[in-house]
Amino acid sequence: MTNHAVVIAGGGPTGLMLAGELALARVDVAIVERRANQDLPGSRAGGLHSRTIEVLDQRGIADRFLTQGKVMQIVGIATTPLDISDFPTRHAYGLALWQEGIERILAAWVDELGVPIHRGREVTGFVQDDTGVDVELGGGGALRAEYLVGCDGGRSLIRKRAGIEFPGWDPSVSYLIAEVEMTGEPELGIRRGDRGINGLGRLEDGKRVRAVLIEQHVMQGEEPTLDDLRAALIAVYGTDYGVHNVTWLSRFTDMARQAASYRERRVLLAGDAAHVHSPAGGQGLNIGVQDAVNLGWKLAQVVHGTSPESLLDTYQAERHPIGARVLRSTMAQTALNRGDERTQALRETMAELLSMDEPRKRTAAMMSGLDIRYDLGAGHPLLGRRMPDLDLLTADGSRRVFTLLHEARPVLVNLGEPGALDIAPWADRVKRVDVRYAGAWEIPVLGAVAAPTAVLIRPDGHVAWVGDGTDQGLRDALTTWFGPPTQKGEAPITSR
Ligand SMILES: Cc1cc2nc3c(=O)[nH]c(=O)nc-3n(C[C@H](O)[C@H](O)[C@H](O)COP(=O)(O)OP(=O)(O)OC[C@H]3O[C@@H](n4cnc5c(N)ncnc54)[C@H](O)[C@@H]3O)c2cc1C
Repeated sequence: MTNHAVVIAGGGPTGLMLAGELALARVDVAIVERRANQDLPGSRAGGLHSRTIEVLDQRGIADRFLTQGKVMQIVGIATTPLDISDFPTRHAYGLALWQEGIERILAAWVDELGVPIHRGREVTGFVQDDTGVDVELGGGGALRAEYLVGCDGGRSLIRKRAGIEFPGWDPSVSYLIAEVEMTGEPELGIRRGDRGINGLGRLEDGKRVRAVLIEQHVMQGEEPTLDDLRAALIAVYGTDYGVHNVTWLSRFTDMARQAASYRERRVLLAGDAAHVHSPAGGQGLNIGVQDAVNLGWKLAQVVHGTSPESLLDTYQAERHPIGARVLRSTMAQTALNRGDERTQALRETMAELLSMDEPRKRTAAMMSGLDIRYDLGAGHPLLGRRMPDLDLLTADGSRRVFTLLHEARPVLVNLGEPGALDIAPWADRVKRVDVRYAGAWEIPVLGAVAAPTAVLIRPDGHVAWVGDGTDQGLRDALTTWFGPPTQKGEAPITSR
């Protein structure tokens, strides 16, 4: 049986991102992916929100995505667009790029990092004990891991086998999504129906059409047929436009469910395996990638013995509320997209509110992920929030904050007296950089905040401690997030 520290079930966006994070932290990780290659049968997610681009920038790979997609304003709620170009971020926009493109870039990165991917293999079950997990593979064979992470999508076998509940809401509407050719000339654009929005749009080749159509009755599960597609077209447009050459036909719903727990001892969940919801607002892939970035460094520290297993509890504590608010926002959007006059009136009221600066900023920051604040207690407004990507002056010249995070290691940025803040007992784990910075400190929604004298940044880019001229609380924060201090004469914790 082959051993790995971590086995990831599923090499979609979440599994790939997690594998990259673990590999950067020098964890022996492998992916088991059912698909024989990274091809996707049709377009799924259509892009990346600002915070996801930032997260990729923190690893030095954002340009790989930006050069393949189209930068544009993509945030919106119930057809009200929300412009974020005045937000204090280097990436005050979203990126239009199909999921297949996103996955290919992530897969190439993971490949460079040397992560083995067992393609065309399926996880069919597992048994966990006190020291690890035996992971069964279809067609025979097994892997042994210290931890198994289910990144295996909304129908997650890992979640089901772990016995983790998946409470939430049944679908109120189901959609067909298809890529087709049409003999007739289709009415392109959006057509609102009683229960939501239908849409027909040309694909990049200018020939085929992407159709998103509400079904007459809520359907789930079984594969839709060409007859279902024709019926849906006729119900909405009065004609099937001579639909033929269907290259992709699938169904999605607005079902909203979230795993009651993101961990069952040595088994964890991330991405769609942990939360499913309507694609309205384009959130799913984005929060999956961000789950991975929250979990990766924590799991690495637990595997290396740097931190106790209880660090993994903070993954659930921090990411479950983010998933829950995405469910809530997508449910609101499903309701707002209905076509009756009362909903139309509600939509207009919302649009009026969102034309004001404060509501626009709050909603757009939520949807772009830029407002996320993990609850790390009271204190400076930066605490628990994303560290802005400032241009710092270091002994080696100008450095962006995000460049300091490329290795996915914690960083103490000392803006005060050079050499201040002794972190010698953590020096094997935490990088200290003496810098100068005279510019503004601005964070989305809140605006300008007081300049700190130091910030301790976690590998996921969130601020774990803020200095106010003293080192009060620094040792506690270092211990909480990066493990106990190394005693004098003791081997560095990372080499044990
Ligand atoms: C129509 C549509 C539009 C969308 N638009 C957007 C958007 O604009 N923005 C956005 O952020 N999100 C969007 N989403 C959601 C997005 O596609 C998902 O949230 C995203 O794919 C989740 O990534 P994941 O890696 O968690 O899961 P998945 O992408 O589902 O990946 C799971 C992987 O696990 C593999 N797998 C499953 N079971 C096993 C097993 N037992 N063993 C081994 N491998 C297994 C699968 O083959 C797959 O590769 C959209 C979804 C749909 C349907």
